[in-house]
Amino acid sequence: MEIKKSSMLTPKDGEPLVIAGPCSVESREQIMETALSLKKYNVDILRGGIWKPRTRPNAFEGIGGRGLGWLKKAGEAAGIPVGTEVAVPMHVEICLSHEIDVLWIGARTTANPFSVQAIADALKGVDIPVMVKNPVSPDIELWIGALERLHNAGITQLAAIHRGFSMADNGKYRNQPNWHIPIELKRRMPDLPIICDPSHICGKRELLQDISQEAIDLMFYGLMLEVHPDPDNAMSDNAQQLTPAAFGKLLNSLEPKQESVDNIEFQNKLSILRENIDNIDSDLIHLIGKRMKVAEKIGQCKKEQNVTVFQPSRWEEVLNSRIKEAKKYNLSPRFMEKIYQYIHEESVRHQEEK
Ligand code: PEP
Ligand code: MN
Repeated sequence: MEIKKSSMLTPKDGEPLVIAGPCSVESREQIMETALSLKKYNVDILRGGIWKPRTRPNAFEGIGGRGLGWLKKAGEAAGIPVGTEVAVPMHVEICLSHEIDVLWIGARTTANPFSVQAIADALKGVDIPVMVKNPVSPDIELWIGALERLHNAGITQLAAIHRGFSMADNGKYRNQPNWHIPIELKRRMPDLPIICDPSHICGKRELLQDISQEAIDLMFYGLMLEVHPDPDNAMSDNAQQLTPAAFGKLLNSLEPKQESVDNIEFQNKLSILRENIDNIDSDLIHLIGKRMKVAEKIGQCKKEQNVTVFQPSRWEEVLNSRIKEAKKYNLSPRFMEKIYQYIHEESVRHQEEK
């Protein structure tokens, strides 16, 4: 898939690309005030939601099409291109008639191929930059599928937005980052710019700093952050939005990172440590393989005695004791639980094959 570099999606003043603005456009004054206060922070794109997909009806569902003129004017006044979310072909049409510069597809829409196809069809012949948020569930194929549908419709200025995934247990986040998914997307589509949206991952402003830095450390192309002149009284997502001043402080505090440096001492140290990691990984694989061989023998015994492969009390005991032991090495219970679920699943497979 050939992705064209979009001038709109190219950071104008150093990296990363910065997209900022309120969750929702609420009034002419609110979006104008936000745009003007963002002027001094080198923001590349002013965001503002016009149609808001809310989980339950009766919540604020956006100001609707009349807000697009306010958004466009605010962007012009501040000299910042503007972007908003589209979910149905009618949104695309109104955005195009208001000359909105960049569009994005929200997480709930990406999850539905019919909706994505309808948007792609509405965009045929118009090569406007489009950013695709990850689907709500951790399904990378659905994410790639949405990008492909747009590409097939002639959209070449594409980008992806990582906004986290809704899991059974989101821990302290509103949406789990599951960093391995955008990392895999980067591996499969190296030319695709991937922007991190810490606001919708975190759900709370206190967590934004760490997630933003992590995105920089992981070489994300840019950041999308929600900024509102009066976050506590925002009509949507009030716990996660930043004041313009807090946003400026966060941006300033981010430590830039580079992929590599020309320092022989550093390179040598790194290769020794990497060799160490390679050896440990090889031991790990060897040990897991050895563990599976034992599991196969257990499988054999159970089969001979007509005993079930899965035994809940034994599984409970294995999990708890391993979590306890791992604490000595500062390995989190959450990590251990995940790793053991995978090991257990593989072990059951080996036992059943015997
Ligand atoms: C948003 O950007 O305001 C939004 C609704 O995001 P998401 O699609 O990630 O939930
Ligand atoms: Mn929002």
